[in-house]
Amino acid sequence: MSLGQNVWMSTWCPLPWMFQYVRTNGDYRVCCHQVQAKGVVRSADGATMNIETHDLHDFRNSAELRKMRAQFLAGEWPETCENCRTEEAAGLTSRRQTDMRRWAAVFSESHARAMTAADGSFIGSGQPVLGLDMRLGTKCNLKCRMCHPRSSSAWLGDHVALWGSQYYEYGKLVEIVPGADGQLTTQNVSYAWPSKQLSWDRLEAILDEIHYIYIAGGEPLLIEEHFQLLDHLIARGRASEVRIEMASNLTVLPQPLVEKWLEFGGIGLSASIDGVGRVNDYIRYPSRWDVVERNFLKLNSIGSPIDLWIQPTVQALNVYYLPQLYEWRMGFELKSPVRAGDKDIMVPHILRDPKYYTVQVFPEPIKQKLEHHLTHSARKLEALSRGQAKGERVVSAYTTFIKAVVEFMWAEDHSEQFGQFLRVTRDLDRLRGQNFSRALPELAEILEVRPGEVVASEY
Ligand code: SF4
Repeated sequence: MSLGQNVWMSTWCPLPWMFQYVRTNGDYRVCCHQVQAKGVVRSADGATMNIETHDLHDFRNSAELRKMRAQFLAGEWPETCENCRTEEAAGLTSRRQTDMRRWAAVFSESHARAMTAADGSFIGSGQPVLGLDMRLGTKCNLKCRMCHPRSSSAWLGDHVALWGSQYYEYGKLVEIVPGADGQLTTQNVSYAWPSKQLSWDRLEAILDEIHYIYIAGGEPLLIEEHFQLLDHLIARGRASEVRIEMASNLTVLPQPLVEKWLEFGGIGLSASIDGVGRVNDYIRYPSRWDVVERNFLKLNSIGSPIDLWIQPTVQALNVYYLPQLYEWRMGFELKSPVRAGDKDIMVPHILRDPKYYTVQVFPEPIKQKLEHHLTHSARKLEALSRGQAKGERVVSAYTTFIKAVVEFMWAEDHSEQFGQFLRVTRDLDRLRGQNFSRALPELAEILEVRPGEVVASEY
């Protein structure tokens, strides 16, 4: 089926041909939305393919990648693409669908068919990498409740205090140990690939053809290699041809970095904002809402080439407060020319892991109360929109998304993990001097936790 036909009926995805993902630990994958444990690609000696040990060319020509391409051309879903498949089945827009639209002008299914043999190998030199997603290590200043040392260095100490000094990362046992500088670090798995010259030597060839780079961490606005990458692209005269996107917690906004961004063809910044005020401060600890909001509004005032959007991670702790977040979004005008048209800037992401923080963790009576609250809040947002076009667009985005959230919430029952949700919430409260029922009293009431009380331990 060609792209000109109905893309929603196709199961083809362009990413195994023209996209490359490098995880925080340097492992290669096709994209971040794969089921990561199933997306592991190994060389003949059984080693996981990693930027510190393997060339990109070997990964892109591996048996797993060839199989994935062959499956897509045969109209089959690869096992590692289960997340996209289930999202589409639930009526959500999947990463695959978003990327088909993004790349339609330069790479389509007919291009893929013309350059691919039946076994999924490239015919001739194959397709250059046009898009790159790099997780530049785990350096971060926050330890968000749903996060982990796999993504944030700030989580190492709390992990030791709560669960001890070991964790698994896709089959490898990682040990948290004191480093030479006295700070905690990891053994057996390293997140230092961006500081190695060999890593950049391996990426060098594709940086001359790249159209798009997505950068995350850790917190990319704190990571020096992000700044160096931009300097490299500017020095090679490529900045105006490349669009850079990133996810940031917006707790910092270095002015020299903003000035580099202005040289690029486009900058897309996804603000990781899960809630307003105390909801932000509770989940995205130890960030402060006034700082995050100030940086967000400062970036919004710049406009082109900075295209801004908000990506809340929808989870058990903020699902009740989504109407409040959409209400906040109604309070400002957008300067970004990309989004100021018919797209809204709320691009929520539904948390799937850890299970005890997903919206599927609640027992049925709590899910019923949440569904009632979320669906009835649309009326309040409608009243606030006062019939204005911007407000109506936000209400429409809210209504569509909440329908999908409610569907997702009921799709699976993970209430067997509800006790774990309460235990982890209580233990982190004690460790961080926070208090669930004071920070999120409305959710606490639904959960029948008394005001001022730390979550009950008897669950
Ligand atoms: S189908 Fe989804 S998970 Fe699979 S490669 Fe495409 S975007 Fe990634």
